[in-house]
Amino acid sequence: MTTLTHISGPETVTRSSSAANPSTLLALSVVVPVFNEEESVLPIYERLRTVLAGGSDPYSSSYEIIFVDDGSTDDSFAVCAKIQASDPCVRVVQFRRNSGKTAALNAGFSIATGARVVTIDADMQEDPAAIFALFDKMDEGFDLVSAWRRERHDPISKTLPSRVFNTVVSRITGIHLHDFNCGFKAYSCEVIRDLKLYGELHRFIPVLASQRGFKIAEVPVEHSRRRFGKSKFGARRLGRGYLDFIQVLFLTTYLRQPLRLFGMLGTLLTLIGALICFYLSVLWLQGEAIGHRPLLTLGVLMVIAGFQFISTGLVGEMLRNSSFRRGDDYSVRRILGWEHSDNA
Ligand code: UDP
Ligand code: MG
Repeated sequence: MTTLTHISGPETVTRSSSAANPSTLLALSVVVPVFNEEESVLPIYERLRTVLAGGSDPYSSSYEIIFVDDGSTDDSFAVCAKIQASDPCVRVVQFRRNSGKTAALNAGFSIATGARVVTIDADMQEDPAAIFALFDKMDEGFDLVSAWRRERHDPISKTLPSRVFNTVVSRITGIHLHDFNCGFKAYSCEVIRDLKLYGELHRFIPVLASQRGFKIAEVPVEHSRRRFGKSKFGARRLGRGYLDFIQVLFLTTYLRQPLRLFGMLGTLLTLIGALICFYLSVLWLQGEAIGHRPLLTLGVLMVIAGFQFISTGLVGEMLRNSSFRRGDDYSVRRILGWEHSDNA
């Protein structure tokens, strides 16, 4: 049975200050997203319980397991509810409809009270026993440790695109992980409080966290075939994953100053277009006919496109300005003298 040990910190308000002063009740929260996994829920729960109860303190006596039923249409929720009725360490969130894995993780994160948070898929493809290997790595000073499925037991239609995805993301972002999208990860509560997840961004959690200044690592884990049910992510995710990546690149780089990207491109285009038009005007003044020249079309197009790029940058700046919240562009690790300023 779980004992509630108050671990640290005063109640906090903003995104940035919560990172500096987390308030946690338990040592560990395990978040399990569930979408049509009726056969897997009980086995993953039993395995988690065995592993956690057999682990070392404080985790063995201070944990919670949060199942998030992401609008399952099978009996997953009934199974979760039954488990919850028999075990006070279990909490269950039920969505009205399927809202996606990112939303499910978000819902779990928003009620998690652990100083450390682990996410694990319900399908039993990763063994929860590796939680402590992830924690050992965190003890070395990492904020987020991701499991690396070194030998994946998935069909090639999943493993091949995934390899391409990991290589591209790793090269472009400079974050050297082998397996970005493994559902099995361990976080400090500061990371989950700081992360802003929506859409399908769960695949890019290490990128987003790293951009906020958190230290990321990975640990190889065993992976096994899916025993029950089927995978929820098919080939369609490929096209979407590509677009999501563009979005993440944008969010983690140019979002801060959209005008820097669009304004630069726009100015360059406008300048080249203006030069072309100037050159054609000189020819025209000398009596040469220019109406039939493809260069005219190119010059005019470049000027128009250039202006459009600049306006896109300005609209981006307006959006950023109106949606900006303090803490969006920094993440506080700690504040010394917090209590002092609190009492002042
Ligand atoms: N999942 C979810 N909502 C969804 C799709 C998936 O909560 O819309 C859960 C699913 O139940 C599982 C985890 O996310 O616990 C990973 O899904 P899956 O195993 O199908 O992905 P794969 O390992 O095949 O990439
Ligand atoms: Mg899976």
